[in-house]
Amino acid sequence: MKPFAYLRADTVADAVRACAAHPGAKFLGGGTNLVDLMKLGVETPGLLVDVSRLPLDRVTDTPEGGLRIGATVRNSDLAAHPAVRTRYPALSQALLAGASGQLRNIATTGGNLLQRTRCPYFQDTSKPCNKRAPGTGCPAREGTHRDLAVLGHSEECVATHPSDMAVALAALDADAVLEGPEGERTVPVTAFHRLPGDNPDADTVVRPGELVTEVLLPPLPDGTVSLYRKARDRASYAFALASVAAVLRVRDGRVEHAALAFGGLAHRPWRARAAEEILHGAPAGDATFLRAADAELAAARPLRDNAFKVRLARHLAVDALAELAART
Ligand SMILES: Cc1cc2nc3c(=O)[nH]c(=O)nc-3n(C[C@H](O)[C@H](O)[C@H](O)COP(=O)(O)OP(=O)(O)OC[C@H]3O[C@@H](n4cnc5c(N)ncnc54)[C@H](O)[C@@H]3O)c2cc1C
Ligand code: SF4
Repeated sequence: MKPFAYLRADTVADAVRACAAHPGAKFLGGGTNLVDLMKLGVETPGLLVDVSRLPLDRVTDTPEGGLRIGATVRNSDLAAHPAVRTRYPALSQALLAGASGQLRNIATTGGNLLQRTRCPYFQDTSKPCNKRAPGTGCPAREGTHRDLAVLGHSEECVATHPSDMAVALAALDADAVLEGPEGERTVPVTAFHRLPGDNPDADTVVRPGELVTEVLLPPLPDGTVSLYRKARDRASYAFALASVAAVLRVRDGRVEHAALAFGGLAHRPWRARAAEEILHGAPAGDATFLRAADAELAAARPLRDNAFKVRLARHLAVDALAELAART
């Protein structure tokens, strides 16, 4: 590991100031992703600004009836929070489907949103990779890509975003609040992560020195139910091959409200707008759910070894919607 300086920030302002003053500095949340990447030589920050002790560790109600989640809230605490479990079960389930108990006890909300891809070439500095070293190429496209993207990828990069939590947040219409050298701004989680295009080195729209301070969950429309489903290679911890977060309300046999997001399929949580358009107002049943899933997944461009993800996502979505419909 390359030598680095360490600073523990006591206030948000100090953290932002310290990061802005040292180009290449990184915030440190739980360190479960960043420190691993530093050991591999993928990340080489000259300064770590530890934000894990900032007073951003609370989950509180908003006046509108939603939730305000501090960026340093641990994944385990968020999953177990009574308001999350009862009002946003999809979020609790997504968190519990991610990593292991030990990792969730230390991983933070901000760090989970900003964790980096698990593409094997990205993590191996002896290999070329456009995300790690722009312009060097993408060996995954012809090489090992079974776990990688089927939607929204480019010639430059076919990586997936690994977070389960972010998929639920995308379906729940959450916002991320950022504090940076130029002040505060709010970004919808659906617009927080980028598609790779021709500069896959930028995973998100976060600007240098910007700190995630909190995530805002709006109240869900009355009568909606939600869930998160994840398909993975083994029952103990593993990243999603495909996953789905779904929110649904059915009245008099018709879909009144639907929000759907896929994980494991793209460079960002994939909000399924085409599927939602078909769902709204349609009879709630397998025929509609299949039509909606197929409409969304028609945009898929699988690679040699990952076409199975399209079928997997289709089944996950239809099952999730059917289960929710039976509950409303
Ligand atoms: C074996 C293993 C299995 C895993 N399985 C899963 C899984 O199945 N699903 C899943 O979703 N995840 C999984 N993970 C990933 C894990 O969830 C992430 O490592 C974790 O959420 C990152 O959070 P952290 O607080 O430790 O982030 P850190 O490692 O501290 O930071 C990650 C990145 O976020 C930045 N950062 C941290 N906090 C902030 C902030 N407040 N504002 C701005 N930038 C910030 C850091 O600079 C860094 O770039 C797994 C990890 C491991 C090691
Ligand atoms: S898919 Fe993206 S992260 Fe993986 S090798 Fe290609 S450029 Fe790098």
